[in-house]
Amino acid sequence: MKPLIVANWKMSLGTLEEAKRLFNSVKRGIKNIKNVEVVICPPFLYLSNLKSEILNLKLGAQDCFWKEKGPFTGQISPLMLKDLACQYVIIGHSERRNLGETDEMINKKVKAAIFEKLKPILCIGETGEERKRGKTFTVLKRQLKEDLKSISNFKFQISNFKFQISNLIIAYEPVWAIGTGRACGIPEAKEAYLFIKKLVKNIPILYGGSVDSENAASYIKEASFEGLLVGGSSLIAEEFIKIVKSVGRG
Ligand code: PEP
Repeated sequence: MKPLIVANWKMSLGTLEEAKRLFNSVKRGIKNIKNVEVVICPPFLYLSNLKSEILNLKLGAQDCFWKEKGPFTGQISPLMLKDLACQYVIIGHSERRNLGETDEMINKKVKAAIFEKLKPILCIGETGEERKRGKTFTVLKRQLKEDLKSISNFKFQISNFKFQISNLIIAYEPVWAIGTGRACGIPEAKEAYLFIKKLVKNIPILYGGSVDSENAASYIKEASFEGLLVGGSSLIAEEFIKIVKSVGRG
């Protein structure tokens, strides 16, 4: 599999003009880079404008609701995302969990995304406090168990959930490393990678948390991750292009 590099723009850009400028700079900058899949996750609002510009980039969303249609004010469904050429959707990001999103809600969202044939990028990770208390693996296991409940092929359960999880992607994002400039050390990241891999075989795992152009390649080449989820560094075109170049060819 080609390394997968996902840009999470969060709510960081104030205008559509800025979003288009960044998108087009990245598109130009990675034009000749081979062997890497690059996904941009802008705010929902910009998806339809960027849809016509994709070419060598893929589009993703930062969240989705679990229902297809109906009276759910303010929500966006996987069906709507598909219609806007979205292929990926980030689910369960720690910034959403902090706003009250539960594992039960995340589980419904993952199922809805898989049903719509989107590729859900399920974010899991421990807080700094949990790591200090030696609870990292307990937390990761609990999140996987609850977020993937009743989804077939998953080791923790035997179920009749009928949708395939071949599209599922996991992102290991230690919460204490997100947006702090304190990226997880390669040995610790690799330990988490191996732990997750044992539980969800054959599912690609991304690393996320203060990735920059200096450390990006190590997570893939040394810690074996299949890709990266990049927040802050994806907002600076040159920096993000360097990250893509460091893991691709060309
Ligand atoms: C993220 O928000 O998913 C993330 C990894 O952010 P950052 O790269 O800024 O730590």
